[in-house]
Amino acid sequence: MITVGKTVPFDVSRIRSDFPILHRKVNGKDLIYFDNGATSQKPQVVIDAITEYYTNNNANIHRGVHYLSQLATTQYENARTIIQNYINAPLSQEILFTKGTTDAINLVANSLGELFSSGDEIMISAMEHHSNIVPWQMLCERKGLVLKVIPINEAGELIMSEFDNLFSPKTKLVSITHISNTLGTINPIEEIIAKTHAIGAYVMIDGAQSIQHIKVDVQALDCDFFAFSGHKVFGPTGVGILYGKKEILDKMPPYQGGGDMIAKVTFEKTTYNELPHKFEAGTPNISGGICLGTAITYLAELDLDAIHAHESELAHYAEEKLLQFDGVRIIGTAKNKTSVVSFIVNGIHPFDLGTLLDKQGIAVRTGHHCTQPLMDFYQIPGTVRASFAFYNTKEEIDVFIHAMERSLNMLR
Ligand SMILES: *Cc1c(COP(=O)(O)O)cnc(C)c1O
Repeated sequence: MITVGKTVPFDVSRIRSDFPILHRKVNGKDLIYFDNGATSQKPQVVIDAITEYYTNNNANIHRGVHYLSQLATTQYENARTIIQNYINAPLSQEILFTKGTTDAINLVANSLGELFSSGDEIMISAMEHHSNIVPWQMLCERKGLVLKVIPINEAGELIMSEFDNLFSPKTKLVSITHISNTLGTINPIEEIIAKTHAIGAYVMIDGAQSIQHIKVDVQALDCDFFAFSGHKVFGPTGVGILYGKKEILDKMPPYQGGGDMIAKVTFEKTTYNELPHKFEAGTPNISGGICLGTAITYLAELDLDAIHAHESELAHYAEEKLLQFDGVRIIGTAKNKTSVVSFIVNGIHPFDLGTLLDKQGIAVRTGHHCTQPLMDFYQIPGTVRASFAFYNTKEEIDVFIHAMERSLNMLR
């Protein structure tokens, strides 16, 4: 692998050489991978770390006195520290390993949610992923809580004056996405966090689409919870992170019971382990956790500002080219946006377009992107979504635009 340090200028062809899958063919064509919003590709260092773990280091953690168990435990706990440092969390105990963002949100909904009572209110937004809607709906049903939704405008931006009006003395928690997976909108979470704390409620940030694009500092943000998925930050699937402030996590009851989360078990009474183990019942995804640490180390070596500039340039270029076709409408035109380009074409079903693009080696997402209420707002069945990562190039967009032209000619 070629090491890319902050002193080395951002060089997309060097970065591409770190990602073996980008060099394969699909349907006889060079793969063009524009589905980074759904999952990211993995650099060779992460792939190697998975093999290394199972080849040389595999053992269960936190239990054994034997050499390998201690080695695996050290590596797993090192990964926790790497992630703690990356998001600037004060304590490693505040970094909980989960299965992903969905699991992290369910943890908070089930555990913190136990502290809420009938009539209390939870606030989300109109652009949430299903995983930041359904766990709260389930909680509301179970505990008699009320779910309120911050509306958006046509551009796909939160209507902040409405947000202020939705607060009540009963507001207990605001859970909001940092960046929309469907629209690319970057939400003003600093303002949301400050206003929510001013009335004494908690704030949870769904960071599934942000940490791979912009620098996240949980202390500067002052959010109470921040969740993300390993597989969207160039790491493995089946592992993710929930950051939570210690004083809140300490008040929360355990989410799941089992091994590792206990201090002492008798049939009369069980006492719980301290953080983070209280929330990590059972044997975790050990390899996943360690290799997420590898992925974060890889990301930390890149210049995030240069990445942001490169990805913005790609998104602007793609939007400009797409708008040259008749009948194209971009869904999500917020002023503050990341590298997601969702669009529809008059009279053409997103699925048909996606299928023809796939035949030409181009991977885009089609459908509702796990945001059905958002599709209802725009009164569309779905979009075609091209979502870019730092390893994508302008040349790939040129090929994509050419493929669009061919596909539209066939469909019209
Ligand atoms: C992908 C995504 C999720 C869910 O993440 P999982 O990895 O499927 O648990 C939640 N929110 C947003 C904004 C996402 O993009």
